[in-house]
Amino acid sequence: MKYCAICGKEMPWRSLKTYLENHEVICEDCAAEAGFQAGITYPDTSAEILKFKISKDKEYKEFINRESVNKYCQDHLMIDEKNNELLIGRCDYGSALFYKAKLNNILDIKYYDDNQTVEIQTQTASSGAGKAVVGGLLFGGLGAIAGGLMGRQDAHYSTKTTITKCGIQITYENGEMDELNVLLYVFMKDSISPNSETLRQAQSLITAMCEVLLPYTKKWKEKQEAEKNDARSTTTNNVEALVKAAELLDKGLLSQEEFDALKKKTLA
Ligand SMILES: [Zn+2]
Repeated sequence: MKYCAICGKEMPWRSLKTYLENHEVICEDCAAEAGFQAGITYPDTSAEILKFKISKDKEYKEFINRESVNKYCQDHLMIDEKNNELLIGRCDYGSALFYKAKLNNILDIKYYDDNQTVEIQTQTASSGAGKAVVGGLLFGGLGAIAGGLMGRQDAHYSTKTTITKCGIQITYENGEMDELNVLLYVFMKDSISPNSETLRQAQSLITAMCEVLLPYTKKWKEKQEAEKNDARSTTTNNVEALVKAAELLDKGLLSQEEFDALKKKTLA
């Protein structure tokens, strides 16, 4: 009697057996879960590798089917605020390539590749050119976004014959850092030419991802807070000026017309 090297189930002698390296054999169900055709021999893979792949596939599917996923950028970046997690990657051809990270303690995010690291500017979020691409819409202004933010393919790349990484660098408040290689996790490439369309597509996707991620960074929040405080203090100053003017009006140092004009201007 044979037993499946993945699930341990007993396999009836008539069932289709999938052979792996070292004469390991797996059942039809496990072969299907791994995306393999039952009854065929796959001499280059082991039950251990497939076990890992199957469990990663399940983990990925669990994430993308969560009701609590509240923001996404195509199916390559998903944000689950409720569970404080983000996911970057894809799951195709039965092989899961993805990366999970924590959401609540991100200090800032950067674009990176073999040759450069580009700070994602906080003003990008409010500028029209870098409008967030949320909800599966593919970059309308692909060239504009990628060109403006990064996509510097001239001097930087002239001496490089291949690019091996291109992704998002996340720095956490505790100083830890994650590098999410979008080239690998999404485009499934471990190296490309610097002039390839894939690099431009990766950069565009990364730009869009960064737009979605930006509001979760501490630096972005601090900037928003500072802007709010600025607006608040302007209002406070205006009110103080008006109170002063009212005193001057009372003392007859300001005419009613002058006061009205000032009031109109201040409250505009
Ligand atoms: Zn099995």
